Amino acid sequence: MIHQYKMGGLNIVLDVNSGSVHTVDDAAYDMISLFETTEKSRLIETISAKYCHLPDYTPEEIAACWQEIDALKKSGQLFAPDTFRSAAGELKARTAGVVKALCLHMAHCCNLCCEYCFAGQGRFHGKSALMPFETGKAALDYLVAHSGSRHNLEVDFFGGEPLMNFEVIKQLVAYARSIEKDAGKNFRFTLTTNGVLIDDDVIEFANRECANVVLSLDGRKEIHDRFRVYPDGRGSFDDVVPKFQELVRRRGGKNYYMRGTFTHLNPDFLTDVKTMLDLGFTELSMEPVVCAPDDPYALTQEDLSVVKRQYEELAQLMIDRRREGRPFTFYHYMIDLKGGPCIYKRISGCGSGTEYMAVTPAGELFPCHQFVGDRDFLLGDVFTGVHNPEKQREFAACNVYARPECADCWARLYCSGGCAANAYHATGSVRGVYAYGCELFRKRMECAIMVEALRQQEQQR
Ligand code: SF4
Ligand code: SF4
Ligand code: SF4
Repeated sequence: MIHQYKMGGLNIVLDVNSGSVHTVDDAAYDMISLFETTEKSRLIETISAKYCHLPDYTPEEIAACWQEIDALKKSGQLFAPDTFRSAAGELKARTAGVVKALCLHMAHCCNLCCEYCFAGQGRFHGKSALMPFETGKAALDYLVAHSGSRHNLEVDFFGGEPLMNFEVIKQLVAYARSIEKDAGKNFRFTLTTNGVLIDDDVIEFANRECANVVLSLDGRKEIHDRFRVYPDGRGSFDDVVPKFQELVRRRGGKNYYMRGTFTHLNPDFLTDVKTMLDLGFTELSMEPVVCAPDDPYALTQEDLSVVKRQYEELAQLMIDRRREGRPFTFYHYMIDLKGGPCIYKRISGCGSGTEYMAVTPAGELFPCHQFVGDRDFLLGDVFTGVHNPEKQREFAACNVYARPECADCWARLYCSGGCAANAYHATGSVRGVYAYGCELFRKRMECAIMVEALRQQEQQR
């Protein structure tokens, strides 16, 4: 399968199954689009007729172009067959039962009261709760016991607002460090925070212990303060920005990212990205809001074209700033055209419900944070393990080949079949397809491929 598009002055040809990306001239671009359906001499004739008025396109050169395309095909870099379909189930079976990451819900409560909060202001539609140390410890033990031969184990400290339970987070990290050597493991911690409780202690701890921190900021002050408010309605922007800046300043180059949410109120989210850059942040992410379609801030069909344009302009901004020596990263544009994610990840996706689960303050296991609180998705608990294997099998079967809609999608090996939570909320089935999200995803991938292809092209000059 081939996907072709023009962007940023490049003619881009993606060979879906091999993952090869080619940037080609106009004649080759047209020739590739007809290569599989047009007989050789007729194809050379057609392309020659179209380009013969241009000096660079003699009939000999057009014929040579055909030969090059044919050589790429023979070497598996164009029109490669799909060799992964048959392996999809087998790959998943090979790692069945292995858990590599847990999302610990340290606090089902929050000191902010964001209107768009998918977690019901942090409580996940239940009672406020903090995770006790014993429960967190059982979760870490469960992870170690079920991680098979995996060395690196990921633990996300999540909420609500996890820093409302900071003392227990510190105790859990100390516990993990005390067992990791003997267990032959390496814990990698991530902290996701709204920033309100960041102080010197938190900065010192997060920068020492956390491989990544995710800092929630929506960009412009008026946008951030529209949603990210205290219970009394006051915006949190002025409080959290200096704290985020101090944390990042002292991070010493370790990973972090600023995570913003855009809604119907700011489909022009590039302005918010620029605000984050102006504030000195360079590792950025902006995500479309997750909410019910009838919420007043839900993205609409009319927003779609605006958002797509923003993604293209964002790509151009990344290129311009890189050329100026002021690069920044955008989470959704981080792809590796040469290696890419391993084929297991490309087929199997995020691993929710199988190798990745969320743990509530009571120790219950759910497929991921987006399913917490929905009893239909309760998988078990960290004390007694998974006792809903049927539900887990449903998630295990969620791969890129499980959804008929994905079969013809050129982005399938980047998307890995999409987000089960979005699919469930949009269609009622974790094996459904959230079409709106797919459109945005494909646009992001086109932009990401263009940015990376141009970077490689410029590097080779
Ligand atoms: S900070 Fe996060 S958990 Fe708290 S209300 Fe806002 S979105 Fe929800
Ligand atoms: S973008 Fe949508 S259709 Fe394409 S592979 Fe992902 S989930 Fe499937
Ligand atoms: S199902 Fe969606 S929200 Fe949950 S972990 Fe996977 S990608 Fe993330």
